[in-house]
Amino acid sequence: MPAGHMKDHIFYRNLKKTYPVVDRGEGVYIWDKNGKRYIDGSGGACVVSIGHGVPEILEAMKEQARRICFAHGSHFTSEAALECAERLVRMAPDPALNRVYFLSGGSEAVETAVKVVRQYWREVGKPDKYKVISRWTSFHGNTTGALALGGHTGRRKHYHPLFLHTPHIEPAYCYRCPFGREPEACSLECADQLERTIKYEGPDAVAAFIAEPVVGATAGALVPRDGYWQRIREICNAYQVKLIADEVMTGVGRTGQNFCLDHWKVVPDVIVTAKGLSSGYTPLGAVIVKEEIHDAIRSGSGAFVHGHTYCQNPLSAAIGAAVLRYLEEQNLVARSERMGKVLLEKLQVLLEHPTVGDVRGLGLFAGVELVRDKKTKATFDPSLKINARVAQEAFRRGLITYPGSGGADGIHGDHILLAPPFVITESQIDDLVRILGEAIQAVEEGLED
Ligand code: PMP
Repeated sequence: MPAGHMKDHIFYRNLKKTYPVVDRGEGVYIWDKNGKRYIDGSGGACVVSIGHGVPEILEAMKEQARRICFAHGSHFTSEAALECAERLVRMAPDPALNRVYFLSGGSEAVETAVKVVRQYWREVGKPDKYKVISRWTSFHGNTTGALALGGHTGRRKHYHPLFLHTPHIEPAYCYRCPFGREPEACSLECADQLERTIKYEGPDAVAAFIAEPVVGATAGALVPRDGYWQRIREICNAYQVKLIADEVMTGVGRTGQNFCLDHWKVVPDVIVTAKGLSSGYTPLGAVIVKEEIHDAIRSGSGAFVHGHTYCQNPLSAAIGAAVLRYLEEQNLVARSERMGKVLLEKLQVLLEHPTVGDVRGLGLFAGVELVRDKKTKATFDPSLKINARVAQEAFRRGLITYPGSGGADGIHGDHILLAPPFVITESQIDDLVRILGEAIQAVEEGLED
């Protein structure tokens, strides 16, 4: 609700809800204008990595703002962009991933990644390679190109006529294996489906495969089996398909490694990242591209036919550089790994609830899946909006979570995604888990009525 004297003209995300007015943040906490304190258990939408209100970032922001906030990317580069790119490249898993394009967020970065790969294939004389394969139970953004690539049925359903044809394969969703396998019998059919799909679509027509290394928004931290990503990489190599890792949520330390694919020592051709890159201090995304792609365009037509007004924006880049500097100085990626283990261990207690079917995660990126029947893994009727009800109960009790479901399709379970700032302490994790447990219980009690 807005302050008394102000009229409310905001076009909200949920038009039936009233939103408290946010006031300030510090560390893992946010306060609203009524003085109520919340634990930011999901870093908003998996954004806040270094915590709220870090003075070093505010200083870097002021320093850059004093010098210059905006100079268009078609006229200038900036020291800030150079530093931010240099730091990102140092974090990348391979020296060949060494060209960085800055954008305003994840969706723009996804669109950019797809376009750069498409242009690359034209530059190297393979103009028929244009299809991009992606997965169901995925999210790549809300612009129409990115939404078409995503596999969130609920988010896609209003916009189908606007989409290009993009083939989707099954996700690596081990709790609900799309191939009906128990873990012991898994032979990574979900990865092999990429090869079959490339063959169906025609290897000469497939430009890229895009996926989240650990799925975030659609399923709550789906961690694939070891071997999955290695197999995907092999298939991409065999058919000359570029691998785009969408690390918008998982990148820059969130899962306890610099980038999530590092867990499996897999090097993609393009990394898309955002969110934790600026820890929410400014809207910022980035695409990290292999030298080979960059150089083919440079020695070919010489220009990447793309651009947004705020590409390589100096103020955003200065904030990104300051966040990366802070991450390094405070050794926060290692902390994400350490505290991630603590979080996952403490969350196990939630499995005692009759509706908690699965608890999973990697680093400080964890998911709790809610089911109607634990034995059969039957999902709740989507119209019950169990995920939203749990999130609402948690919010009421002072815990911010990121609720989700793969879509209103009855295939995916409801889930809660947790992604607290890396600075979270053990006792704050205890509070988080306790409040989430209380929220789940409150919803369960409501179901009995
Ligand atoms: N990719 C992934 C994996 C995401 O989780 C998101 C956002 N949740 C996006 C892309 C889109 O990012 P943005 O909302 O910044 O456009």
